[in-house]
Amino acid sequence: MTIHHLNCGLLQAPGCPAAACHCLLLESESRLVLVDTGIGLQDIQDPLRRVGQVAIDAAGFQFHEHLTAARQIAALGWSPRDVTEIVLTHGDADHAGGLVDFPRRGSISEIYLLPLFGHTLGHCGVAIQDGDSWLVHVGDAYYLRVELSDDRHPISQLTALRAMDDWQRRESLEKIRQLAQHRNITTLGYHDFSEFPVRPSVRRRQQTDCHAGDASLPGPREP
Ligand SMILES: [Zn+2]
Repeated sequence: MTIHHLNCGLLQAPGCPAAACHCLLLESESRLVLVDTGIGLQDIQDPLRRVGQVAIDAAGFQFHEHLTAARQIAALGWSPRDVTEIVLTHGDADHAGGLVDFPRRGSISEIYLLPLFGHTLGHCGVAIQDGDSWLVHVGDAYYLRVELSDDRHPISQLTALRAMDDWQRRESLEKIRQLAQHRNITTLGYHDFSEFPVRPSVRRRQQTDCHAGDASLPGPREP
C-alpha cells in the first residue's frame, strides 16, 4: 500500500498559526481510499451556502481550488471516480466538504475506526495497517501535536473550548498518548503542518500566538 499525504485545505483563524487539512489517500492494487476530504470544490463555488460566514470567519477558511482533494487526485493521474471509498473522522465542513466531489464513494472495510469522542460526539480516529506498523489518523482529537505533551499550551485551551464534550476529549487524548508510545504506531492529526512527511508548500503568516479567547465566537466550532 502507498500512503499519500495531501493537504486539502488551509485555515487561517484569527490569531492562530495556519492550520492544515491533512487527508490521506491510500493506494492499493484494487482500491483508492480517501481519509477525510478537506475543503471541496462546491465549498469554493458557494462558500456562504456551504460553509457559512460565521464558520468562515471563526476558522479562517481559505478557498484554494488547487488544494481540493479532487484536483490533487487528478494531478496524481486519477479521476474522482477512481476513489473507491471515503472514511471520515467526523462531519465538520473542513473535513467532509469534499465528499460530494466523489461519486463512487463506498462503505468502509478493513480500515478500523477508533472511537476518539469529544471533539464531536461521534468523532473517530482511523487506524490503517501498513505491514508491521500502524498509522493512526486522530482527526481533530488534537489540533497540534504539542497537545500530547503540554496541557497548558494556548492551543490546548482552544481545543478544549471547541470540544462538544471536554471530558471525553481528555480521555481520547490520553488514549492517543498511550498509542504514541508504541514503536510501530504513528499518530497524526488533521491540522498540524509539522506532521506531514514532506511539508506542503503554502504561504503562511508569521504568527505564533493563538489565543483561545479568539475562538469564543458564536456558531460552529470549526476547525
Ligand atoms: Zn477540523
